[in-house]
Amino acid sequence: MVFLCKNLLSIDIVKFYIFAQKTMIGDLKTIKALIKKLPKERLPIRLMEVCGTHTVAISRMGIRPILRGEVELISGPGCPVCVTPANFVAKAIWLAENGCTVATFGDMMKVPAGDDSLFKAKARGCDIRVVYSPMDALEFASLNSENHVVFLGIGFETTAPTIAGAILEAESRKLENFSVLCGLKTIPRPLEYIASSDELSIDGFILPGHVSAIIGRKAYEFIAEKFGKPGTITGFEDGDIIEGVAELIRIIMSGKPRISNAYTRVVRENGNEHALELIEQVFIPCDSSWRGLGMLSNSGLRIREEFSSFDSERRFTIPEFSDVQDNPACLCDKVILGAAKPTDCELFGTACTLSHPQGPCMISSEGACAAYFKYGE
Ligand code: SF4
Repeated sequence: MVFLCKNLLSIDIVKFYIFAQKTMIGDLKTIKALIKKLPKERLPIRLMEVCGTHTVAISRMGIRPILRGEVELISGPGCPVCVTPANFVAKAIWLAENGCTVATFGDMMKVPAGDDSLFKAKARGCDIRVVYSPMDALEFASLNSENHVVFLGIGFETTAPTIAGAILEAESRKLENFSVLCGLKTIPRPLEYIASSDELSIDGFILPGHVSAIIGRKAYEFIAEKFGKPGTITGFEDGDIIEGVAELIRIIMSGKPRISNAYTRVVRENGNEHALELIEQVFIPCDSSWRGLGMLSNSGLRIREEFSSFDSERRFTIPEFSDVQDNPACLCDKVILGAAKPTDCELFGTACTLSHPQGPCMISSEGACAAYFKYGE
């Protein structure tokens, strides 16, 4: 009976897989038909998928090689672990070495800071714990009053409300042993940088569904108005991504750049007002350092003065570690900008693999190198 059920189930899975593949191939034909209407000298169209989750989904679908020569799908700066610079990791290690309990998302553990990493610091005896949310770190602090718990706050607008919520909760509980090393970043400024670059010559942006759910469609209008580049907010299912690409090509063909929303089931014009209020209540915009982009004005979030007791940078005198070097052979700084493909890196697939990653783009589950390695180019 079990054998029969298993086989029936696998037949259904195969049927579904064939159906999904046929649907995807049908949708790809729509893109191919659109491309045929474009003049040859206009090709290839260079579209940047800003979000790391899109990079993974596109690699899993395998459409990059199918569209090559006509549409180049280029990975962008939307992987939070990948864009966090090495000196942030060095600061976290310093906090752990100076008696704090460091709580972090798992992807950060192997990110190198020179020759060191949180993983190595933990092996040396530092108290470093993997958590799944800032609230996990807060609960740990609540139950262990003798430890000062530092949560590593990395991410974009999507993560910021949950960290804001944890800080507000820590304040309401009057916790004195919890703080956040804040490395939060915001997406519009790097997009401005990339859109204004002639060298990168991006024709349009596949805009991130998650971040857009918070900041809304209107937050990107400047890309079309100031730089004449279109963008389409796109979901994460195969059909969403193909529709997003088709929509971008239609806009490019129209000659009237605009920001469209192909993910209306989640994203609104002005975003999520409650989440934006939480961000506004706890953080203020600040300059922020990005791997590959350096210091970008107005591209990060800092904890407001009134919550300074929850800001690790204000609670502790942490060295800047500005001299921490990345591995010079690692091209992550270029991969993040779409200036190099993972396969351009001499370490890709040899010295740098999923089991022995050398840089954040291979370490992070949203990194372009990890996606290329796992699913092929
Ligand atoms: Fe860095 Fe490894 Fe990617 Fe090369 S393959 S850019 S070393 S993460």
